[in-house]
Amino acid sequence: MSALSIMEKISLELQSDIPPPLPFTSTDDPILRKRAEPIEDPTSLQTKTIALQLFESIKAAGGGFGLAAPQVGISKRLFICSFDWKIETIIPIINPAYKPVDDEMEAHWEACFSVPNTYGNVMRYKRIRCSYQTIDGKEINTELEGIQARVFQHEYDHLDGVLYPDKCIDLRVFDEPNELQAFRLWVRKEREKAGYL
Ligand SMILES: [Zn+2]
Repeated sequence: MSALSIMEKISLELQSDIPPPLPFTSTDDPILRKRAEPIEDPTSLQTKTIALQLFESIKAAGGGFGLAAPQVGISKRLFICSFDWKIETIIPIINPAYKPVDDEMEAHWEACFSVPNTYGNVMRYKRIRCSYQTIDGKEINTELEGIQARVFQHEYDHLDGVLYPDKCIDLRVFDEPNELQAFRLWVRKEREKAGYL
């Protein structure tokens, strides 16, 4: 039997109360532009419920690199992400902070549930030193690089009311689903070329 994922453990703890997925807030919702409130107790039932709500919401949307609480209308400093892009390894990141390791930045394409049908090329720090709390209340300090650092910075921005189009150097909006799909495939190839995936 494989070990339980962190999210499975949380859902077992909450037992019958698995929350339904929440709808994504629309791009112009003011909650996406607010600085979110710190989580006072990472181990509380309320925090676990928010983490599970995010998990159920990202699953319902077909998966993704990460999702921050304000994107489903909850103005709290919590996001979920997986550092190896699998649904089984998604973890909650609570009260995060980061600093760049050095000045080196790189550009790559990003998308976001809060800005549908759009891709943007965004400059991000290549290496960051980050800290956060786990759902068990542990303090984690770690260094991230490349796409992991990018996802952390993107999700962190949501907690400060920043959306990636604010920072991007090239924004593409797709009205045609076929064009969006073709661009998505192109971005995936570019990520592979860059050693991102
Ligand atoms: Zn986003």
